[in-house]
Amino acid sequence: MGNETAPKHVDVLIVGAGLSGIGMACHLTRECPTKSYAIVEARDAMGGTWDLFKYPGIRTDSDMYTFGYDFKPWKSNIAIVEASLIKTYIQEAADEYDVTRHITFGKRVVDASWDSDASVWTVEIRDVIDGEPTGAASSMTCGWLQMCSGYYSYNEPHRPDFPGEASFGGEIVHPQFWPDHLQTHEQLDGKKIVVIGSGATAVTLIPAIAEKGAHVTMLQRTPSWIAPLPQKNPVVIGLRKLLPEKVAYQAIRKINSFRTELIYKQSRKNPDKVKKLLNREVTKALDGQFPMDPHFTPSYNPWDQRLCLAPDGDIFTAIKEGRANVVTEHIDTFDETGILLKNGDHLDADVIVTATGLQMLALGGVTPVVDGNPIDLAETFTYKGFMYSGIPNLGTTFGYINASWTLRADLIARYICRILQQMDAHDATRAMPIADPDMPKRPYVDDFPAGYMQRSIHTFPKQSDRDPWTASQSYSHDKKTLLGPDAEIDDGVMEFSSPVREPVDA
Ligand SMILES: Cc1cc2nc3c(=O)[nH]c(=O)nc-3n(C[C@H](O)[C@H](O)[C@H](O)COP(=O)(O)OP(=O)(O)OC[C@H]3O[C@@H](n4cnc5c(N)ncnc54)[C@H](O)[C@@H]3O)c2cc1C
Repeated sequence: MGNETAPKHVDVLIVGAGLSGIGMACHLTRECPTKSYAIVEARDAMGGTWDLFKYPGIRTDSDMYTFGYDFKPWKSNIAIVEASLIKTYIQEAADEYDVTRHITFGKRVVDASWDSDASVWTVEIRDVIDGEPTGAASSMTCGWLQMCSGYYSYNEPHRPDFPGEASFGGEIVHPQFWPDHLQTHEQLDGKKIVVIGSGATAVTLIPAIAEKGAHVTMLQRTPSWIAPLPQKNPVVIGLRKLLPEKVAYQAIRKINSFRTELIYKQSRKNPDKVKKLLNREVTKALDGQFPMDPHFTPSYNPWDQRLCLAPDGDIFTAIKEGRANVVTEHIDTFDETGILLKNGDHLDADVIVTATGLQMLALGGVTPVVDGNPIDLAETFTYKGFMYSGIPNLGTTFGYINASWTLRADLIARYICRILQQMDAHDATRAMPIADPDMPKRPYVDDFPAGYMQRSIHTFPKQSDRDPWTASQSYSHDKKTLLGPDAEIDDGVMEFSSPVREPVDA
């Protein structure tokens, strides 16, 4: 049960009660126990992504030893798990650190204004009615605003229009709004389902609905890289047997994060080598029972888009067993009974799933206003990937695109705690990174041409060519620069100052 009435003022206001927001609150409790904090969450439950998505099979593409928090061991030999277990894990963390009573559910932060004279953020909040912030208005103030609002719109996914949609006699479903009536074996058995897309969602969904008796076709314009991976790893099992839980967790976390980074770096340096390796694994998984070319031979390099995982090769098993089919072709038009393809073939369908992706959204849709001036994030530089030039006391939790989100979310939370401690030690009420406006500009994420990124990255802050003005995608780099012995909080770039703060009613 959350907090029905949020306090009027807190030291730290966290926006969002997903994996990052709950993690931030736990870190605050551990490292800054005297700070007051609150969480404002638009939904009626915690969990964020893992509460929102309801399609069958919804799970991570990351192993839970790196997707879990650094302070809370993942206590299972199964590495890739369904959303419900992730949600339970997040709820357990919230219980262990007494977080839930700090959360106000069903309220959306719609505006945030910084006042330099008072050294506070004032946030405008609206009650959420039917998913929209159209209810009663209220406000809160805080010394530090931490946006743990994720990176995509919950209300508007990426959903291109397809020709002839209106003529389709069946049901069209987007995975972000999966209906209750397409969940069980009874509901799915015998249904002809065409899934448009080849990303992580399609690769997850297809084996799950095929398992429940649906006849599934994955319709893709271009194939994706998919890595079959055993669910249980003997090294993990051995370490968990031999070592105390916490020690084993840290060791596995280290090994897995190192391995992921190595594969990513190899994909950049020696893409042909990684392609060969993946091709070999997929060939083995298909066992000559389905053609590799053109369905599993992408034209781009691994990690140009997020690499999809197939735990125990589940999608390949569904294909081999004839429960799922893959068609690589362009859509001509939808019609009454399904989809007509450019090559003249027709795919019959009762249900068409548009697994066409997300719409990215920075800062949960909030435009920060600093001393009366609305700030265009795209005009700012990112500081270490989680603060913005010229915006005081505002942090954002944004994870990795090439590794588990939580690896970075933990680092950011710990660093924010260090900033707060530094501010206290020096009686500072404002911490603001100051950038040289003439630095060269690069996109916030470069070298990652995935569609969802390309569509929206221009709305995100820029990075430059030097630290601390980079948003690194390397856990080992960030660990050193954020938590290493040389990681200076007072780095000459972050300006700590103490404008007089007027007393605020608690
Ligand atoms: C289908 C899917 C699969 C994924 N799989 C992986 C994976 O395998 N590995 C990985 O590392 N990452 C994965 N991700 C990315 C995933 O989103 C992150 O890993 C992680 O869950 C993000 O947590 P978060 O708390 O930062 O954001 P979210 O989970 O998005 O939570 C944000 C919360 O903030 C709330 N919120 C947003 N704006 C406001 C506002 N203005 N006011 C109040 N509340 C607000 C939202 O309601 C939500 O509860 C996946 C994402 C999706 C969509």
